Amino acid sequence: MIYDLIVIGAGPAGIMSAGKASESGLSVLLIEKNPKIGAKLLLTGKGRCNITHQEDDLKNFINQFGKNGKFLYKALNIFSIQDTLDFFHNLGIETKVERGNRVFPTTDSALSIVQALGKYLVKNKVKVLTNTKVTEIIREDNKIIKVKTRQGDYVAKKYILTTGGRSYPETGSTGEGFEFARQLGHNVINLKPALTPVLVKESWIKDLQGLNLENVNISIYQNNKKQDERFGEALFTHEGMSGPIILDMSKKIGELLKNGQVTLQIDFKPALDFLKLDLRIQRDFKEFSNKEFKNSLHKLLPQKLIPVIIKLSNINPDKKVNLITKEERKTLRNLLKEFKLEIQGLTGFKKAIVTSGGIDLKEIDPKTMRSKIIDNLYFAGEILDLDGPTGGYNLQACWSTGYLAGESVSDRNALNTI
Ligand SMILES: Cc1cc2nc3c(=O)[nH]c(=O)nc-3n(C[C@H](O)[C@H](O)[C@H](O)COP(=O)(O)OP(=O)(O)OC[C@H]3O[C@@H](n4cnc5c(N)ncnc54)[C@H](O)[C@@H]3O)c2cc1C
Repeated sequence: MIYDLIVIGAGPAGIMSAGKASESGLSVLLIEKNPKIGAKLLLTGKGRCNITHQEDDLKNFINQFGKNGKFLYKALNIFSIQDTLDFFHNLGIETKVERGNRVFPTTDSALSIVQALGKYLVKNKVKVLTNTKVTEIIREDNKIIKVKTRQGDYVAKKYILTTGGRSYPETGSTGEGFEFARQLGHNVINLKPALTPVLVKESWIKDLQGLNLENVNISIYQNNKKQDERFGEALFTHEGMSGPIILDMSKKIGELLKNGQVTLQIDFKPALDFLKLDLRIQRDFKEFSNKEFKNSLHKLLPQKLIPVIIKLSNINPDKKVNLITKEERKTLRNLLKEFKLEIQGLTGFKKAIVTSGGIDLKEIDPKTMRSKIIDNLYFAGEILDLDGPTGGYNLQACWSTGYLAGESVSDRNALNTI
């Protein structure tokens, strides 16, 4: 059988483009090497899927992607943030806007998103082939003629490549798409892990694993000079730190590490200055004056952090609170305002949220997502040389470019010319 369209890779970009194309009556085959569609989507937003970013100003949105952002202009005009919300509402998914304009499904479940997308594919009669890895793409002149898999060859009039980036390879995004694109004559811009957790030298960090911090301020220092600073949410991992503000600073951290040591400094109580925090500690100490130090911090700190802070303060945990000296109290206060960790490095592709670099945008028509090199090839999603910060930007880029590619291939007149 000759399909109208073959889409390679069933992540958000592939699902959207396959569904959109089949809405126009095209016969569509979606090929995915994993046993199920949307493996990476299931992990997004810590399992809650931050589907998009609420932003009324298109320019602002685009600027978050740096100099390449303008490539997205047409795609976002054709399929906007509001269109994404409407799309999911029509699939029965209600949404809510959280802090930092992050949009989540009210189900708080990435699985509900994947299931809704699965139903969307069924409704539009997309043929989905899972457990099927594309191993080779065969071209003749400037056209793809078939794709090869271990199960056999598949033929279509047009092809969309949505194999994602190279980050978080355990989800299937291992970067084969870049190899295919190179073989087809495309240039691939320097691939680098982006939005990566950091590794720290302090081995006791593992005791804090899983502790999520909200409303903290984190600064990065090099040579005692503050290089960047963010307020928001962060997370301790077994070997370092992750979470939105760390991920968004990771690019800068990577650059600084090339020049030498980088220190991360957490202010656990940014709403209180040194003096106010001292007064707050004094209040707690008064309330718990007859208790041991180790039993006096639960109002001030999350439980998991208490043993670590006690150890670093060098104050005897069994010391009665009313015997704690002013100097010791000051040490405690400084620890809470200037909690230092030495950065050892970044985690690399293994745990990166996105891939920076990708198919050279100069070789793709931003109005259609069509390759300027291969007539019947289109691209969408993270395979493109585009990466945004955390907050729903990257998925929105997938929905919009996926939709645009799906719409462009649906142009019947264009189909007949291939
Ligand atoms: C832990 C984590 C959390 C994230 N959270 C968010 C978030 O909350 N919000 C947000 O906006 N972004 C988030 N992202 C980023 C977002 O998930 C990605 O940008 C997005 O999934 C990219 O979509 P894609 O369709 O381009 O590629 P992918 O989702 O990577 O899908 C590509 C698919 O292609 C398949 N494939 C690859 N090669 C082949 C082949 N040879 N044959 C067949 N199939 C193949 C893969 O198996 C994969 O299923 C997160 C990323 C990670 C890792």
